[in-house]
Amino acid sequence: MSETTKESAATLVLNRPWEQPFWKPAKGKWGVLAFIVIIHVLALIGLILFPLPSLKVLSVTLLFMALGGIGTTVCYHRTLAHRTVKLNRFVEQMLIFWTGWAPELTKSPYQFWAYAETPIVAVSLLCGLALGWQGFFWIGAVRLVYSLHMQCLVNSLTHLGHAKEGDSSMNVWWLGPLQFAAWGENWHKNHHTFAGSARLGLHWWQTDIGWYIIYALETLGLAHNVKRPQLR
Ligand SMILES: [Zn+2]
Ligand SMILES: [Zn+2]
Repeated sequence: MSETTKESAATLVLNRPWEQPFWKPAKGKWGVLAFIVIIHVLALIGLILFPLPSLKVLSVTLLFMALGGIGTTVCYHRTLAHRTVKLNRFVEQMLIFWTGWAPELTKSPYQFWAYAETPIVAVSLLCGLALGWQGFFWIGAVRLVYSLHMQCLVNSLTHLGHAKEGDSSMNVWWLGPLQFAAWGENWHKNHHTFAGSARLGLHWWQTDIGWYIIYALETLGLAHNVKRPQLR
């Protein structure tokens, strides 16, 4: 663990945000809370007004959801957080765009994204309007709420194992068929065991869409320094 990581972990434990009431955001995060409330209200209205979207709207919703999910696992998690692969600059920036904001992106060459955060969030919420009101609700709020909850669900479920030496991570196989949520992140015990590996599904039957994409990018010459698990 680096010094900065150690420091921020210590600050986190000191502030104990999980003991705060859920409606009380961290300092300076009222905007985030407002955004979360707004997308939930809009998603609910959208589901009441348009419980069954047209095929066109549903396809675009699923496509955007996929791009966001892939961006999160391939770019944020495997590339930026763990440095298990080096992506082609253009591919990397595209994936960051589809994933939306991240406050950590404050250093060059990612600085641009910190400034672009608010406009991107607005575009991501409003872009569906191009396909009418149905598109507005489904491609915007419904998609954002689904992605947010699925990401939290996957992260929570994969840490509910029996803690052995403080590690409660586990592989959740049944999240495999629900790949519109996990993208390979459900093999979380594998990830804890081989944190330096870009590949999370270690066996052929462990579906890992994030890995298939990295493998394809590597084959095309758009990803290099791909770290593989050191299996014995
Ligand atoms: Zn990780
Ligand atoms: Zn974990």
